[in-house]
Amino acid sequence: MLEISQLIAGYGNIKALKTVNLSVPKGTIVSLIGANGAGKTTTMKAIMGMVQPAAGQISFQGHNITGLAVHKVVNRGISLVPEGRSILAQMTVLENLEMGAYQRTDNAVQHDLEKVFARFPILAERRQQPGGTLSGGQQQMLAIGRALMARPKLLLLDEPSMGLAPLVVADIFKVIREINAEGTTILLVEQNVRQAIKIAHYAYVMETGRIVLHGPAAEIANDPRVMEAYLGGR
Ligand code: ATP
Repeated sequence: MLEISQLIAGYGNIKALKTVNLSVPKGTIVSLIGANGAGKTTTMKAIMGMVQPAAGQISFQGHNITGLAVHKVVNRGISLVPEGRSILAQMTVLENLEMGAYQRTDNAVQHDLEKVFARFPILAERRQQPGGTLSGGQQQMLAIGRALMARPKLLLLDEPSMGLAPLVVADIFKVIREINAEGTTILLVEQNVRQAIKIAHYAYVMETGRIVLHGPAAEIANDPRVMEAYLGGR
């Protein structure tokens, strides 16, 4: 569904991505793991059109989307839940969710809003409260709900479990699994490597701007290098 080939991108003189090849098959969860600064967020930004690639190609459903403007990428069916969530703190929960649908012209927005509220009842209860008053876990749910309001075929999740308590993390991973089971393809960036591999079909390991290892998640989980570097040697 998503194919990234020979992608090079960065910020001025900083080459954050030195050559990234990555593919996300339709219907799967693919986890991208790696240390801080490896280039995971930059990969997501390049997919969304937020960072312009210097070279390489990104294709989605067989069409070249390299360098397309962000709104066009969203229109094609890709949504990002950014690192840090980017909830609009002064706007209500409802307004935050409506923001996710701002490009839509169909008449199913209300229906999808009800679906998000059914999935996250706490958001329904708090729909008139400012986003900034929600807990971290609730804000993450709001960020996911907002992304779903664009009806993505591919959902990019950048560190959704960051800063959340273990029980809340478990909820978030459960939600990711459900969204995938309902048909949305997922590319997941996570520091929580154990969970990220467990939930995924395929995993990619990134180091300093390159993919150094990839394969079916079960194989990656048992790779000695991954165990040593990311799973505490067990
Ligand atoms: P993290 O988990 O810390 O977000 P990451 O794997 O997502 O790490 P990136 O955020 O993609 O890594 O960063 C890759 C490299 O690009 C790092 O060296 C980082 O310092 C640099 N970088 C990231 N954002 C910018 C920016 N806006 N301007 C300049 N350099 C940046």
